[in-house]
Amino acid sequence: MDAIKPRPRALARLRRGWWTAAHDKARQAAAGVLALTYPDDCRICYTRLTGFPPYPVCSSCLAPPAPLSAEAFCIQCHAPFQSEAVLDLDGRCRLCRSGQTHFDALYCVGAYDGRLRELIHLFKYSRMQRLGVPLGRFLRTGYPREAVFDAIVPMPIHFWRYQDRGFNQAEVLARAVAPLSGLPVEALVKRVKNTPRQAGLSGKQRRLNVRDAFAVPHPGRVRGKRILLIDDVLTTGASANACALALKQAGASTVSLLALARADRRIGMGPEAALALLQFV
Ligand SMILES: [Zn+2]
Ligand SMILES: [Zn+2]
Repeated sequence: MDAIKPRPRALARLRRGWWTAAHDKARQAAAGVLALTYPDDCRICYTRLTGFPPYPVCSSCLAPPAPLSAEAFCIQCHAPFQSEAVLDLDGRCRLCRSGQTHFDALYCVGAYDGRLRELIHLFKYSRMQRLGVPLGRFLRTGYPREAVFDAIVPMPIHFWRYQDRGFNQAEVLARAVAPLSGLPVEALVKRVKNTPRQAGLSGKQRRLNVRDAFAVPHPGRVRGKRILLIDDVLTTGASANACALALKQAGASTVSLLALARADRRIGMGPEAALALLQFV
């Protein structure tokens, strides 16, 4: 007796059944591996994650940050203030008036607070380099499209910090904004002094801490150029300022800075502390 041959449609159904089973098994295996890597909950707000998101963070926590707002900003270093009274008639703060700010313009996306701060911490300190994709997207919104630059330069980190972290967060962000300028990312400045973390130091101590921390190995590649420095966070601005000074001393014509987040030291401060902002940077 002839065996009953399955009809083509039945064969297709059989094949599909085999594929679906194999696919389900592969998904289960991937879920097992991902479960080891990712927690079930968003690392920021602890809501349950669904599916297999590319980051261990929920979509709400990846929403673009609110722009940094303040009653008044210094026109040069963009430091936030609670009143225009601390600015001169040109709109500059005391530090910029004293000639101690070495960058010509500063652009910033949001405040270094809340969700944005948590995302940056995961990116940098938990070494989640792939978070550079959404953070790079945020940074692109702050890119000054009206300005013209000759080079996009990431804030350098010291060799030993690079070895420890595995990447320079500023370089990852610079690669996200470079296409907007049509320029390549260039490492024109190096960090030659591995300074201790700046947290807990006063503005003056920070400035001393980063003095001579930066060097320009090939001044010829910097001379006459309009440079856009890229950084993740600006706290007091002491490091960015020292880096801008090194570039200016090497002959850069202008140095601007684009940062993802700026520490807003007005948060949670009383009037006396607000006055201390006069010592900003
Ligand atoms: Zn979340
Ligand atoms: Zn200023």
